[in-house]
Amino acid sequence: MIIYKTANEIEIMREAAQIVSRTLGKIAEIIGPGVTGNQLDALAEDYIISQGAVPGFKGLYGCPSTVLVSVNEQVVHGLPSDIPFKEGDIVSVDCGAVWNGYYGDHAYTFEIGTVSPEVKKLVDVTKECLYLGIEEARAGNRVGDIGFAIQQHAEKNGYGVVRDLVGHGLGKKLHEDPQVPNYGRRGRGKKIENGLTIAIEPMINMGTEQVEQLDDNWTIVTCDRLPSVHFEHDIAVVDGKPVILSTFDYVEEALNKRK
Ligand code: MG
Ligand code: MG
Repeated sequence: MIIYKTANEIEIMREAAQIVSRTLGKIAEIIGPGVTGNQLDALAEDYIISQGAVPGFKGLYGCPSTVLVSVNEQVVHGLPSDIPFKEGDIVSVDCGAVWNGYYGDHAYTFEIGTVSPEVKKLVDVTKECLYLGIEEARAGNRVGDIGFAIQQHAEKNGYGVVRDLVGHGLGKKLHEDPQVPNYGRRGRGKKIENGLTIAIEPMINMGTEQVEQLDDNWTIVTCDRLPSVHFEHDIAVVDGKPVILSTFDYVEEALNKRK
């Protein structure tokens, strides 16, 4: 059952999303070669708590960490470790926070130093997929329109669209209805209405769409071990149109300052 949100609830959710946005901004200030996932995790946890919020992932479904850190062929749900990032890696950092009972949940894929042109293109196209999907989140459309837009753009570029993991409704729970797949058919699926709040999160692979879980029972990797990219925003449908509650502005500001 979809839980539509009031304007007041959407404002609280914007604050929750912005706490995560600022957390990713803090991560953008330090991430680079030699930095570890555990360092990012500690930074994120301290920052979220300093804002009076609660880490959203830690303890949920048994998750041991505040951020999930997925490197290269890891698609999502990678656990932070003490292994340092290397020049040329890509690192998806996914983070959640709870603020006044509502979740923010979003993710950014960072380039470590200079990445290969092929990887850079995968990063850029996946980010384009995210915004193309968001444009479709308008009243009168259906959830399949979001997935269709994402899938078209990814496949046009020869990439694989992960089927096994999807975006989702967001609110008092991290995962609410509806599921928001990154593939789909135009005009299919649940109707989009005002008050819908969802996380849209394309997971796009350089090669095969097939993924598998590692023995840690968390990390999802591509079956061909080619790289995968993940971006995620939180969206509310207001006055018939998509409103992005989260922002990459803090991340991009921090990255530009370091250039
Ligand atoms: Mg997420
Ligand atoms: Mg999510």
